[in-house]
Amino acid sequence: MELQGLSTVPHRRFNPLTREWVLVSPLRTQRPWQGQVERRGPLQQVAYDPTCYLCPGNERAGGVRNPDYKATFVFTNDFAALRPDVLRANVDEGERGLLVAESEPGTCRVVCFSPRHDLTLARMKLDEIASVVEVWTQQGTELGARPSIKYVQIFENRGEIMGCSNPHPHGQIWANQTIPNEPRKEQDSQAAHLSRYGACLLCEYLELERKAVSRVVCENALFAVVVPFWAVWPFEILLLSKTHAPDLASLDRLHQHGLADILKRITTRYDNLFEIPFPYSMGFHQAPSDGDPHPEWHLHAHFYPPLLRSATVRKFMVGYELLAAPQRDITPEDAAARLCETSEVHYADR
Ligand SMILES: [Zn+2]
Ligand SMILES: [Zn+2]
Ligand SMILES: [Zn+2]
Repeated sequence: MELQGLSTVPHRRFNPLTREWVLVSPLRTQRPWQGQVERRGPLQQVAYDPTCYLCPGNERAGGVRNPDYKATFVFTNDFAALRPDVLRANVDEGERGLLVAESEPGTCRVVCFSPRHDLTLARMKLDEIASVVEVWTQQGTELGARPSIKYVQIFENRGEIMGCSNPHPHGQIWANQTIPNEPRKEQDSQAAHLSRYGACLLCEYLELERKAVSRVVCENALFAVVVPFWAVWPFEILLLSKTHAPDLASLDRLHQHGLADILKRITTRYDNLFEIPFPYSMGFHQAPSDGDPHPEWHLHAHFYPPLLRSATVRKFMVGYELLAAPQRDITPEDAAARLCETSEVHYADR
């Protein structure tokens, strides 16, 4: 049977990066919806908010004042989940591998993308987004050069629905001594693929997607965006570099601009999907900064948006998803088709 035949019946799909399965149940969205309705957030924002702790010149918790920054601004999180000054410690209580813990030094930084409180990546100019890419790259290089830092995780949470109450455009960088769960799984899978097939997992995957076309949302000369075959979230996307690059640091200026361009395109399409500032968690996965060569690593970004069928209906990961496996209702092909139909001109600019 071909993939096409599976798309109308319940089936499961394999995620080769995490080596986990997702259950796809294409007919379930035909059920009547009686659940939670998310309220639309206000669309009008002010360019400067005197109560925002990220706006230029404002005071943050603890009394530190932000500089009057004009482009991007980076600071160490005032309530960091990771700190550099942690003593080294390992515990295996009873020596049975049952109560195991170790100290985790690291640091957390906040990156303001713009001084403008009312902007988002989708509404920023290309050059402005390119400056954000540059800052991500510099930060990754600087933090990764520290002997105590093995992995730098760059991410952005957007929207109250994702637990981000401040609309000021910003992201975070958490850097720590060990490689966290998700990149670790992906590293093992990519290394296994390279040793088994002698080729990069994501280079080969992208080639298949570009042949299939049905899950490609948009692309430019250097980057492509697909709804991955194994997507869990309704409008989840995977942003891939078309050339094999292990990390942000290996992108030249041309590629940095290409990345800025594709980020603007996909975030604009997201906002246009339901004509709201589209909520998501996004982040880059790249080679760790542990000093080893990582030919297996292919730079990419994941976007995980929680919305399902409209601005007001979200997907919950409960019940079966928590206890057994993630499940989705609309197929990744349908989600890609919906995203392909959206414009790359922002609804607020029309
Ligand atoms: Zn602000
Ligand atoms: Zn590759
Ligand atoms: Zn990844």
